[in-house]
Amino acid sequence: MDRSKTIVWFRRDLRIEDNPALAAAARDGCVFPVFIWCPKEEGQFYPGRVSRWWLKQSLAHLGQSLKSLGAELVLIKTHSTVAALLDCIETIGATRVVFNHLYDPVSLVRDHNIKEKLVELGISVQSYNGDLLYEPWEIYDERGYAFTTFEAYWDKCLHMQMEPVSHLPPWRLVPAAGTVMKCSVEELGLEDEAEKSSNSLLGRGWSPGWSNADKALTEFAEQHLIDYVESRLKVGTSTSLLSPYLHFGELSVRKVFQCVQLKQLLWAKEENLMGKESVTLFLRSIGLREYSRYLCFNFPFTHERSLLSNLKYFPWNDNQVHFKAWRQGRTGYPLVDAGMRELWATGWIHNKIRVIVSSFAVKVLLLPWRWGMKYFWDTLLDADLESDILGWQYISGSLPDAHELERLDNPEIQGSKFDPEGEYVRHWLPELARMPAEWIHHPWDASIAVLKAAGVELGINYPKPIIDIDLARERLMEAIFKMWEMEAAARASNTNGTNEVVVDNTDDTENLAIPKVVLKDKGTCPTNSSNDQRVPTNQNSKNIPAYRKRSKYMEEERPQPDKLHNDDKVAGTSRKDEDLCSTAESSSAKKQATSRCSFSVPQYCSSSEGKPLQECESSDLRQPLQAQIEMEQSSSKDGKQLHSIV
Ligand SMILES: Cc1cc2nc3c(=O)[nH]c(=O)nc-3n(C[C@H](O)[C@H](O)[C@H](O)COP(=O)(O)OP(=O)(O)OC[C@H]3O[C@@H](n4cnc5c(N)ncnc54)[C@H](O)[C@@H]3O)c2cc1C
Repeated sequence: MDRSKTIVWFRRDLRIEDNPALAAAARDGCVFPVFIWCPKEEGQFYPGRVSRWWLKQSLAHLGQSLKSLGAELVLIKTHSTVAALLDCIETIGATRVVFNHLYDPVSLVRDHNIKEKLVELGISVQSYNGDLLYEPWEIYDERGYAFTTFEAYWDKCLHMQMEPVSHLPPWRLVPAAGTVMKCSVEELGLEDEAEKSSNSLLGRGWSPGWSNADKALTEFAEQHLIDYVESRLKVGTSTSLLSPYLHFGELSVRKVFQCVQLKQLLWAKEENLMGKESVTLFLRSIGLREYSRYLCFNFPFTHERSLLSNLKYFPWNDNQVHFKAWRQGRTGYPLVDAGMRELWATGWIHNKIRVIVSSFAVKVLLLPWRWGMKYFWDTLLDADLESDILGWQYISGSLPDAHELERLDNPEIQGSKFDPEGEYVRHWLPELARMPAEWIHHPWDASIAVLKAAGVELGINYPKPIIDIDLARERLMEAIFKMWEMEAAARASNTNGTNEVVVDNTDDTENLAIPKVVLKDKGTCPTNSSNDQRVPTNQNSKNIPAYRKRSKYMEEERPQPDKLHNDDKVAGTSRKDEDLCSTAESSSAKKQATSRCSFSVPQYCSSSEGKPLQECESSDLRQPLQAQIEMEQSSSKDGKQLHSIV
């Protein structure tokens, strides 16, 4: 019997359970599972060392699982994914290619182009939702606009009907015969020789692979979920640690959701309040991951610039010495430094620490948020473009419901709050190991005798604060005023009809207009599945289907400052400005234009000593600690604190 032959193109769906593309192929005939590694196409978002280590282990794990089901995972290293796919198609005589959707800006462009090319060549292409509870084009408000606040988005999701899913893997795979230029996991080159020694410790703490992901989920649901409400607030405690598994699709998010919902039912019946609250918060976290994909799909330029256009005028301080001090954990603020050292040493940090160190980079050092985003991308074990974008946009005030731009948390106060005994700091900063808890988060205030007893010499074996926090607060406010001024000048020059050039203090990237997408509407493609991957577009015709409409925020120049974080009910108008433009484009010329939009992040230096940092003694003008605590508390209004969102 002549059976159909299907190529299953694995990407970040490295599991056999609840894998819709694999299941569909296995149902219909012979399968040819393939993973294609094309470093060239990753461009500036080439994964970092620890992320590649994880991928390597996970691929080996998946390969074994597929082998035990009857089919080999073919690994290919190439300069062109589409060429590699075409080679596979030709060699085995395949008539169909299946894969699961990805939503990050780089994949959106690449997958769209590849799909177009294969369809043009008469190859049937079907794609599936293997990564989300709901596709980004399924969730819109009642007017058909994309949500721009998480609460509204998640509320809508929680009221959606979820289709039942079977988590079972295929019981057997019939392999499709054919020989292509394949390679071993080692030959993919995911780990350099020089990286192996640094990576060897990672295996002690982490076990990549889908069946390990399954165990991690069970262990978390049985033992730690109940405490989630507390562990998410304390640095040094652990949350689910599922993020790298979820990033590489080793765990189905639907399975996570359903597993946690069972606990929800149980604890609701038992009236276990802590359990109920923990489940709600954990599901919210899963919701944030969903929302990260949602934003990237609906606003695919967010890896390059802020969703709110006002930040275009923010006078970022592209100070590479400060950037280096931040990366190396030498800012003089113990909690920030401990977080950055942990990140470098282990590739993972608690969400609270991510918020603290990222806010410090943006609000205290005024470093461009995209520098931080790229650094996290390069160093995190769970580096995930969409979640990284979401996190950095939230803390830098780039989203309508984000942390207020003007709010600056004091790392000293955060230290006493989240690491009261200073254990976390002592663990990651051995030079402060003997500092008493009272001074550990502000060693600059300690007396000479205390410092001496602890063996701390400020400015010698531990830096003085890179900048005084009050000065930082003043500089932040100045920057915000400047941003408003420049924005007002830009508006005025537009309304006067003059062509006066307004200096844009952002880097080159933001000056580049994101190219407009002109996606050809091809009508329903007979080779596509009903739940097929949609592509973002900014076509704004009268006939535009509801799922293509954009949010009102993208239609306005800027919400009024007082509305910036609250107003989600402004009526939408038709949008003509270039903010709507998508980076998902069909032509290769457009693709080049997108890559030109890449932002430049300074090269990292390996030496720990750069130019002397700007060192400020504690200011006499500094407000008493209590006054600052009160100020911070009053600035986090209505539960809109960053901590409660991210
Ligand atoms: C500046 C910044 C950058 C970040 N970069 C990344 C990143 O590159 N990759 C990444 O996976 N997460 C990122 N996060 C989100 C979050 O910090 C991590 O997902 C979380 O700490 C992972 O630990 P966990 O699996 O124990 O999470 P849990 O608290 O147990 O949450 C369960 C899952 O929910 C998802 N989740 C939780 N919080 C968030 C969030 N704020 N945004 C999106 N998804 C969330 C993750 O998939 C996580 O595994 C970032 C947050 C910030 C503030």
